[in-house]
Amino acid sequence: MELPQDFKDRMRGQLGDAYGDFLASYQEERTYGLRYNPLKIEKDRLCALFAQMQVALEPVAWAEEGFYYPPQVHPGRLALHEAGAYYIQEPSAMAVVELLGPRPGEKILDLCAAPGGKSTQIAGRMGGQGLLVANEVIPSRAKTLSRNIERMGVANAYVLNETPQRLSACFPEFFDRILVDAPCSGEGMFRKDVQSRGEWSLQQVAVCAARQREILSCAQQMLKPGGTIVYSTCTFAPEENEQNTKWLTDAYPQLELEQCMHLLPHQQRGEGHYAARFRKAGEWTQRGPGKVKKQKAPQKLPYILFQDFIHEVLEPQLADWYEDCLAQGRITAYLQHLYLAPDAAVATDGLKVERAGLSLGSFKKKRFEPSHALAMALRPQQVKQSMELEEPERYLKGEAVAADGQAGWTLATVHGCSLGWGKAAGGMLKNHYPKGLRKNYAIS
Ligand code: SAM
Repeated sequence: MELPQDFKDRMRGQLGDAYGDFLASYQEERTYGLRYNPLKIEKDRLCALFAQMQVALEPVAWAEEGFYYPPQVHPGRLALHEAGAYYIQEPSAMAVVELLGPRPGEKILDLCAAPGGKSTQIAGRMGGQGLLVANEVIPSRAKTLSRNIERMGVANAYVLNETPQRLSACFPEFFDRILVDAPCSGEGMFRKDVQSRGEWSLQQVAVCAARQREILSCAQQMLKPGGTIVYSTCTFAPEENEQNTKWLTDAYPQLELEQCMHLLPHQQRGEGHYAARFRKAGEWTQRGPGKVKKQKAPQKLPYILFQDFIHEVLEPQLADWYEDCLAQGRITAYLQHLYLAPDAAVATDGLKVERAGLSLGSFKKKRFEPSHALAMALRPQQVKQSMELEEPERYLKGEAVAADGQAGWTLATVHGCSLGWGKAAGGMLKNHYPKGLRKNYAIS
């Protein structure tokens, strides 16, 4: 493998005697990983399903959700992937959220979040409780992030498309935990992605290091006293890693470095990552309401159609819970579309919002049509009627399939994981899998 000469020279100086082992690791096959999604499936069940396909998943030592899979397997092509049962992720990247330590009920910001590997891991740890703000500055990447949030059945996230500067003005000392998984020179991608080697230069390292400082300056403003911030990169450059870590604590002495982690490809089975965790001094005392969402007077919408839908389709306990959410103003409307705000909702006025919580569905002429996101966030036991698909590939292509249940909305599942809606009538399930996703779905 051809590596940039300046990179090799620097790594030789950086690693000393270990440089030979580091270089030799580039002759080895890259690692392949996936992370099971606790919001959709149990860990043992996923391992058993892969075992049935003669695929042994091997645990990743540093992340309880992580597994290696063999290179000849293509888990991204399985219906289970579309159902959000797992996320394909480079194994060393999984260590970052472990270091962040998210907990249910917290307010967490993932500032550089697309395509969503770490956001969806954070969401899995939060178990639907609390607030996750997943932000991405590049619009097309924010859309990809939003699709992954949806696929993984995340119900408590806002997806924003903002600059760190604008966000920091809106959320001073607001979050319990912040992740800055910064854009970087990507030296840890060299085995995986040939293009990243061609784009690398010492100048690019310097540009990235300067940009990372700007992002970190904004991020630290949004952290509560007593809160935790994790800074991570997938590069080995000291300018971007150790030097920026030192710069951060020098510039903001209220931040104390708690732990620092280097994953290197000759030492661990992964492509490499750097992460540092800081704690902000002080204890959080509530100072006023912060940026809490003001309840708006309900718009004149036919909410009765939504209420009819929940009582017809959802299990009674969940339907009652949605009634409560409606009464508390947690269900917000944008034009004809309803969203369920996370339990710690925030005002997003003036911000570019890609997803304002869980999309529930929209009012059409005289009916309420549920959204795909709602299906993805439901478990089969939460609906009155679900149907395990015998040939999920046909459903994913948009075909109608035979159904013997009662007429009405039916949650289509694969191995017990929701995949989308269908509407049963006359012995068939009319396909409501989104057309945009059908087009993109290729089964080998
Ligand atoms: N955390 C993501 C994951 O695990 O899937 C990967 C994030 S990637 C390393 C860094 C992200 O930062 C990219 O999506 C990139 O578009 C975004 N980015 C680029 N420039 C930025 C800037 N100036 N401020 C904030 N984010 C930026």
